Amino acid sequence: MAELSCEALDELRDKIDVVDGKLIELIVQRLSLVAEVGEVKSAAGVPIYAPEREAKMLAKRRAEADVAGIGGDLIEDILRRLMRESYHREKDTGFKRLNSELKKAVIIGGQGKLGRVFERMLTLSSYHVEVLDKDDWDNAKEILDGAGLVIVSVPINLTTDIISELSHLDEDCILVDLTSVKQKPLEAMLAVHSGPVLGLHPMFGPDIVSLAKQVIIYCDGRYPEKYQWLLEQMSIWGAKLTQADPQEHDQAMTLVQGMRHFTTFVYGQHLAAENPELSTLLEFSSPIYRLELAMVGRLFAQSPELYADIIFSSSKNKEMFSRYLSHFEQASQLLNNDDRTGFIENFNQVSNWFGDYSQQFLDESRNLLMQASDSRPV
Ligand code: NAD
Repeated sequence: MAELSCEALDELRDKIDVVDGKLIELIVQRLSLVAEVGEVKSAAGVPIYAPEREAKMLAKRRAEADVAGIGGDLIEDILRRLMRESYHREKDTGFKRLNSELKKAVIIGGQGKLGRVFERMLTLSSYHVEVLDKDDWDNAKEILDGAGLVIVSVPINLTTDIISELSHLDEDCILVDLTSVKQKPLEAMLAVHSGPVLGLHPMFGPDIVSLAKQVIIYCDGRYPEKYQWLLEQMSIWGAKLTQADPQEHDQAMTLVQGMRHFTTFVYGQHLAAENPELSTLLEFSSPIYRLELAMVGRLFAQSPELYADIIFSSSKNKEMFSRYLSHFEQASQLLNNDDRTGFIENFNQVSNWFGDYSQQFLDESRNLLMQASDSRPV
């Protein structure tokens, strides 16, 4: 009997192997079709990320999957993973060059992490790119000569000093910075250069494979009509461009980046001081806790200088942290006073403040957590 059921199992597994083989063939077929789409898009200068087309296609597939009885979530998960793969591959195709007249782009700090991302993207779009890094200032005149685009991508604390060295750029050269803060670099660029000026803040780290769906915040400086092509070029790379006023940007960043990095830093510091066995914490962590721990741990795998510069970049951060500290103290008083009722009241107030977003965040994070459950534990 045992032998029989084993045989039946083997037979079923063989059939699954065949289906998996077919799945692989279909995936290869889909990826190569999308690659062809990528080539057509690249030649025509169409952005690699088309949110409306993507949403429409997913809705259609979800409906078809419902009819087939497998549910929309499964097909959406599979298709999103395949689309991500396609976006990653699309970078190899290259991109249409939108500005045929630009003779040369120079990236100051181009050997750095983010500078290299922009060098790669511009080169993939057939622009001639040169780098001016810290040891190249003796040749700066030659490197900058004839540049129609200069991108400053140096450590934050050096940015305004380096910008002040750029008073001899050609009148029509577009001066751009990639700094995580916007007000001061933009002011410095407008003061030193009378031509077109643009402030950018790429909201991603250097480890991204594709710019598809990545956000780049831009702050207009001067003569926006002269750098529209660059904004369009970045859309072609797949980036989502969001315009902001520099002051509004820096204010928002105290919460989006400064606060988050600082509280993560403090939590990491607390963990290190408590000194638990990390492997034991991981063993006790289901995906959500593993993910939370990973979000803390990943900060400490990156550049301390970058985070120090982001956190120390604005006095607004200090004011924000002291307000945060007072909330921390209020919350810890609830704990010290065993005030469970007070805690619940406060919880409900915050919950009301989040409004419909709390449900949206619950749904969004559920999807992320399902993916985290699928991945191999670290
Ligand atoms: P990085 O330290 O990796 O690169 C900085 C580069 O500047 C290095 O190649 C360094 O040699 C060069 N440099 C230093 N002094 C110089 C000088 N005097 N002249 C010319 N070059 C000099 O830093 P990064 O992470 O690439 O950050 C660069 C900029 O990008 C910063 O303004 C940062 O705020 C911004 N940014 C970074 C990230 C990120 O995740 N790394 C994200 C968004 C924005």
